[in-house]
Amino acid sequence: MAMHLSTPVGALSGIGGNAEKDLRLLGIVSIRDLLSYWPFRYEDYSVEKPIVSLRHDDTVTVTVRIRSIESRPSKNRHVTLTEAIVEDETGELKVTWFNQPYLTKTLRPGSRLSLAGRVDNRFSGFAGACTLVSPVWEPAGARVHTGRIIPVYGLSGSLTMRRLRGAIERALPAAEELPEFLPEDIVANESFPSLAQAVRAVHFPESRAALDAAIARLKFDELFLHQLMFARVRSERAVRLARPVPTDVTFLKSFVASLPFTLTEAQRRAAWRIVQDCSKDRPMNRLLEGDVGSGKTAVAMIAIAGVIHVGMTAAYLAPTEILASQQQAVIIRFFVDVPMPGIGIGLLTASRARIGDEEVSRKELFAALADGRVRCLVGTHALLQGIDIPDLSLVVVDEQHRFGVEQRKALLERAPAPHLLSMTATPIPRSLALTIYGDLDLSVLNQMPGGRKPVVTRLVFEKDKRDMWDHVAAEVREGRQAFVVCPLIDQSDALGAKSVAEVAKTVTGVLPKSVRVGILHGKLPSDEKAASIDAFRLGQIDVLVSTTVVEVGVDVPNASVMLIVGADRFGLSQLHQLRGRVGRSDIQSHCYLVPDGWTPNAKERLTAMTRTTDGFELAEIDLRLRGAGNVFGTAQSGFPDFKLATEADVPLMKKTRDMAARLLGDDPNLDAYPLLREQVRIAFDQVHLE
Ligand code: ADP
Ligand code: MG
Repeated sequence: MAMHLSTPVGALSGIGGNAEKDLRLLGIVSIRDLLSYWPFRYEDYSVEKPIVSLRHDDTVTVTVRIRSIESRPSKNRHVTLTEAIVEDETGELKVTWFNQPYLTKTLRPGSRLSLAGRVDNRFSGFAGACTLVSPVWEPAGARVHTGRIIPVYGLSGSLTMRRLRGAIERALPAAEELPEFLPEDIVANESFPSLAQAVRAVHFPESRAALDAAIARLKFDELFLHQLMFARVRSERAVRLARPVPTDVTFLKSFVASLPFTLTEAQRRAAWRIVQDCSKDRPMNRLLEGDVGSGKTAVAMIAIAGVIHVGMTAAYLAPTEILASQQQAVIIRFFVDVPMPGIGIGLLTASRARIGDEEVSRKELFAALADGRVRCLVGTHALLQGIDIPDLSLVVVDEQHRFGVEQRKALLERAPAPHLLSMTATPIPRSLALTIYGDLDLSVLNQMPGGRKPVVTRLVFEKDKRDMWDHVAAEVREGRQAFVVCPLIDQSDALGAKSVAEVAKTVTGVLPKSVRVGILHGKLPSDEKAASIDAFRLGQIDVLVSTTVVEVGVDVPNASVMLIVGADRFGLSQLHQLRGRVGRSDIQSHCYLVPDGWTPNAKERLTAMTRTTDGFELAEIDLRLRGAGNVFGTAQSGFPDFKLATEADVPLMKKTRDMAARLLGDDPNLDAYPLLREQVRIAFDQVHLE
């Protein structure tokens, strides 16, 4: 049967109804999809050795004949052991598999096999002899699962690696149909393999060098198309109309004067840029970046005040219900001194609707929006999809790492398009942000509000715990509050209920009876979550034991202690975000890091935390510690919006950005490159579908 890129995967031998369903879960329907499902790592089984030269820890392929094979229950009865003795001209070798009793039916004495895996000499019973434990196998010399660098893919359902790898191998001939969409001179100048060659090699490379070349080409494609797509979003934006928000400088000045603090220079500059952007009839698309505590909310509030003042509406989107509820309260406080008769701040989440501090029905809230009594609506992201907000002129997206190109594009499709302000605490250096978020303008708050004392951070061992708890008790006596954060340890406790309950028990045990302890975790119903965080904000709870749900954005300036249990389990940026929950006023705050073991790199990470409070510096250390995308053996940590590219590919991002700009400069419509234009269109449409 002829196989083409558009052929459904079900046409492949070995892919029946179930496998087809499992593949669909991975987004794979056609042969084309299958071929563009990249491996996430590789095993290098290209070294082949005779049995006599096997050494402990070798990763190898051996080609052997089975002498005997049998299955039996192991001593503890839970596992079935299948053991084979295999041989070649140079010697014999023991092979063990677990829980695959059917192997005795498939692999018969006398058959010739290639086996690949890791050699171990600890299980063989006598010194010097070797065992292969759970090797991959196939008929001798087949070279799909052994004898080469083999791909390892993400799986779903009951799909096995063997089946998926086999299917992709059988689909490879169709790669020849993939059109070369890159301009010829780019392929030549960069010495890239053709697209068809690259796709074949990314799955079944003939060598490390061929794999590297394939990955280099495919990463380039990914980033180059992305940059071309940014350019399309940008030009799309240039033709969309927005409502200009007239700037009333006198009002804005009085609003700023009503704030309980003086703006930092950085806040002033950013706010001015934003207000100017909003006054234009083209939609703003600006990213406001500032470390935790740099005061992004106040900047957004100036823009929102400007919008409300002229009778338009603003929406403020938070990543979680808790944060949405909290931000509504914060926003209300920002407006206490601003005369706005009859105008309220609304809240809409899956479980709550409010106007000001009153619970209302969703219907009442919509009515109030329609007749202009609510001109600022706070909610979660789902808010955007569901409803039509009248006179919507400004959308503020807070703490959203994943407000991707697709959502930005969806906003642009409204008419008139609202101005968009995204805010993030992820410390990405300016040049990098411009490259990753190529369609955004950027403002950076590179300055902390004055009067802040850096958080004192301590690493806590068993002997220091008594002092730590005494300090927490003392802070509570002074009227301060403390966060205690616990990690999610076991899979069965994904929402953290168990972990929080255990830690809360310890906390109530070590602290005086008078200390009021509250809890917060993912398993609580959302109204209890909101009640918990409200009570903490209002000072009705002294110590809040919680999961990392407090990680982003929670703002309780009176909290002076952040105590992180199992701190070794958190990444640096997460620790930094957590620590950012304290030190948000002129009170001296403390952060206690309590490791409960030494996970890899924990010492470096935790020590770095005690040394610096600079988010950019910590981000760099994090990058160094995690290493820069070694394909062999480590899972890829894709950058936002990318499958292959990682932080390590920043230079390539810059290069593709420049190349895209040059190409579009000469040929804005890509008329000379219809295949490339088609690829950009496909990428753009896929973004739309997500
Ligand atoms: P983030 O940038 O992390 O979102 P917030 O906007 O929550 O920071 O601000 C952190 C805290 O600092 C808040 O309590 C806020 O009221 C306060 N704040 C903001 N700007 C200033 C300023 N210029 N001077 C003093 N305090 C400020
Ligand atoms: Mg914030």
